[in-house]
Amino acid sequence: MLPQRNVFYPIKMILATRIFWKMIDPDNMTYEELLDLGETVGTQSRGLPEELINLLPTTKYKSNSIFSRKKSEERCVICQMRYRRGDRQINLPCKHMYHTECGSKWLSINKTCPICNKEVLLEE
Ligand SMILES: [Zn+2]
Ligand SMILES: [Zn+2]
Repeated sequence: MLPQRNVFYPIKMILATRIFWKMIDPDNMTYEELLDLGETVGTQSRGLPEELINLLPTTKYKSNSIFSRKKSEERCVICQMRYRRGDRQINLPCKHMYHTECGSKWLSINKTCPICNKEVLLEE
């Protein structure tokens, strides 16, 4: 049997996600984690400017469960929540989607796709 498909979550990404949701608890972090955190926080300039994030297309999520069972399992890897009908999604050029809110916040701190690590480039 093949192992279940899991999204690989490097530590930096977890940290960035925690900062994001303000769930950081510095007392429970190791020195290495704090160093890593510093690095992550220090990467502001790696994010996309808001004007560019706003240029990304957004769509409304609609479940295609009638046609494909897999679709109903789709989650936003940033907040780990399942998409619900009517949720707004931001579409990255690599074809990955996130909640508009999650994706925008994510891209403002890091312009690479959390799933495939592709840089989101928006060139004219
Ligand atoms: Zn989300
Ligand atoms: Zn991607």
